[in-house]
Amino acid sequence: MKLRELTRGTVPAWPPVLASSYGRGDTLDDDDQAILRGGVLNEQKRQLELQFERTSGGRASAVLTWDAPPSLRQVWSVLESNIGRRLRELRELEVGGLTGSALRERIRQRLKDGSAPRHEVSVSPAGIMAENAVSMIIGSGVGLTCQACGDEGAELTLPSGGEPFRFHNKCFTILLEERQRIERK
Ligand SMILES: [Zn+2]
Repeated sequence: MKLRELTRGTVPAWPPVLASSYGRGDTLDDDDQAILRGGVLNEQKRQLELQFERTSGGRASAVLTWDAPPSLRQVWSVLESNIGRRLRELRELEVGGLTGSALRERIRQRLKDGSAPRHEVSVSPAGIMAENAVSMIIGSGVGLTCQACGDEGAELTLPSGGEPFRFHNKCFTILLEERQRIERK
């Protein structure tokens, strides 16, 4: 997938939102010649904080946040190796990680071969919210492997008999749907 195809909920996550306007949601969209000058990966907030040089010569800080996968680290590694490029070039960059039907297919496959937990996970929506809040406090989705898709950057921590389960929010929804589909057969 391309950077411009990242989403947050149902809305596009690209372009980055100007940090000074957070809440208003102003983006760098009107300045597609802005040059990426650097950035940091903020694990706590699960976002990338990017520095741009605007066409006018001024600096701008902008925040990029989306639903994993792809993980923070996957997206950052692409952006980091493209420092010096313009916003309109960045949007077309390919990032790793599965999405859409390919992601669903991967999870279906892993349920079939037993790499994704098929019966062990059962939580109420309220339980998910509570657990999610806990895992947000614990922080660091970086390096935590999602047991649905197998990629890193899992945000959701769920209790199990032993080691807790970790999932991307997105993948957990798909896991539950696919598991139901299997059970109905
Ligand atoms: Zn996942």
